[in-house]
Amino acid sequence: MASLETSSSAPKAPYSYPDKRGRYGAFGGRYVPETLMYPLEELEQAYVSACADPAFVARMDELRRDYIGRATPLYFARRLTEHLGGAKVYLKREDLCHTGAHKINNALGQVLLAERMNKKRIVAETGAGQHGVATATASALCGLECEVYMGTEDMARQSLNVFRMRLLGAKVTGVESGTKTLKDAINEAMRDWVTNVGDTHYVLGTVEGPHPYPVICRDFQSVIGKEMRAQLLEKENRSPDLLIACVGGGSNSAGLFFEFIEDDVRMIGVEAGGLGPETGKHAARFAGGVEGMLHGAMSYVLQDENGQIMGTHSVSAGLDYPSIGPEHAFWKQSGRVEYSYANDDEALDAFQLLSHLEGIIPALESAHAIAHACKVVPEMDKDQIVVVNLSGRGDKDVDQAARFILGDKGAGA
Ligand SMILES: *Cc1c(COP(=O)(O)O)cnc(C)c1O
Repeated sequence: MASLETSSSAPKAPYSYPDKRGRYGAFGGRYVPETLMYPLEELEQAYVSACADPAFVARMDELRRDYIGRATPLYFARRLTEHLGGAKVYLKREDLCHTGAHKINNALGQVLLAERMNKKRIVAETGAGQHGVATATASALCGLECEVYMGTEDMARQSLNVFRMRLLGAKVTGVESGTKTLKDAINEAMRDWVTNVGDTHYVLGTVEGPHPYPVICRDFQSVIGKEMRAQLLEKENRSPDLLIACVGGGSNSAGLFFEFIEDDVRMIGVEAGGLGPETGKHAARFAGGVEGMLHGAMSYVLQDENGQIMGTHSVSAGLDYPSIGPEHAFWKQSGRVEYSYANDDEALDAFQLLSHLEGIIPALESAHAIAHACKVVPEMDKDQIVVVNLSGRGDKDVDQAARFILGDKGAGA
């Protein structure tokens, strides 16, 4: 059987693909019930063969261009650069993707893969609804049936996204177990997949879960870094000095970083510091987590001494998750990528700053990356170049931001 390790798409040792068991050093792997081993192997096979099929690659390229709207611009943020007074800041504009964020890059790739495997049905999990919307969108495009699992707590908080998914033809199923949020929705989506695996593909939304999901998602997102390298060469005739991206599960950051992982480029992943890691109300896995397992992979997890998954908090729903992708755990441990965090109030300041200075309202997730840029860019030389991944647009967050900035009355105040 062909494995990803030996796939034709030129591995870049030692950081490239995981080993045959899907492990990145001590992290990753495939810790799943026996019934899922075969479908995961089938998925790996299908992915390897799709990558080697010019027809699949051409269809993916066409839809990236004509449907998602790629290549997304690499924008020189002149006023932000002047304001910070250090390195030049460029923004990679994933906020301009169809559906407003990078998630469609992965969702579309996986739905095309499902189509290729002759699966008739898609299942997915969603927290805030962003991945659910991206998956429902790609399913509509391909005419596949789509069911999205969502915690009932999240459904109440994100009713507009629930309506959006239904509008796109998806069935949204509430999950009542556990904390009624994302991790419970993932459990339920996996249970559905085990039961219906003959005709169903599970579209996982970030670089998490059992092998080969982290590789597939990273590769579909790597278009971000690939485009950016070419765009910066054209504009500045050189490579960047520093890359900054926010890290929820870790897909937009992996998509930006992976292209440069063998190069002499500094990289910083920014987690959600919430109210501050010392308060326990945060989602900074590298600041407060330990090595552990969740949803089929070894990584860093926020858990208590008994291995119970802890509650997390962030002003941005997309970063509010107790685990992080295994490749990030490997990059962290090997020292290749630095990780930091931005707290809620810093992200909200950055959210307003970018809106004022550039006329770009960022997603609250992306605002964490901007917040970190505000800390490090002023210390850098003016001839250096920083690229910040603007993972999504902030329209979805205006209500939430108004509640925090204006107080409880929100935008109506
Ligand atoms: C979901 C989301 C994220 C976090 O997910 P990653 O997998 O870490 O990229 C970041 N930004 C936006 C806009 C999102 O919707």
